[in-house]
Amino acid sequence: MIDLLLILLIILGLTACLSLLSRHWRQPQYLNCRFCRHNTLTSFESLPPEDQAHIADYCKNYERRTPNFPFIFICSSCQVVFDEYSNATKALFARMGGTRIKANSLCKVCFAVINDCALDRDDIHCHRCQTLHQWLPYKDRPAKFLQPPAEAQIRPIGIFTRARLR
Ligand SMILES: [Zn+2]
Ligand SMILES: [Zn+2]
Repeated sequence: MIDLLLILLIILGLTACLSLLSRHWRQPQYLNCRFCRHNTLTSFESLPPEDQAHIADYCKNYERRTPNFPFIFICSSCQVVFDEYSNATKALFARMGGTRIKANSLCKVCFAVINDCALDRDDIHCHRCQTLHQWLPYKDRPAKFLQPPAEAQIRPIGIFTRARLR
């Protein structure tokens, strides 16, 4: 009888440990924002539903594409949205730490690497196709997206294209 109780206790203990561990693994991961340097990059899945809906709305209705949500992060300090075309998310997956990563992005039209997309620049042109990209909010919310003109034909990006980002 005591043996049975002991086994039961061990099973209960193990279950508690496992659930604690899995909760730890599911914690949102944070990375320094490459623009404001704050440790405030939040993954799409950790955002409140209204922020998720806003980003999804932008991708679907402005860029006319289906986003790959696990690659999207937002800085809750400077409100920059890092999407699949940005190297900030690549840094997270490479575990390199955002501060040492250059502010690169791929052109959303032709995939050429755009080397300096600093937040205060209003002349971020792709050197290959000349498309202008601008950090702009969308529909009166603070989040800023790297936006090509509305009429630009945006190419959906895949994992292998992302590998070209440095
Ligand atoms: Zn920031
Ligand atoms: Zn281009």
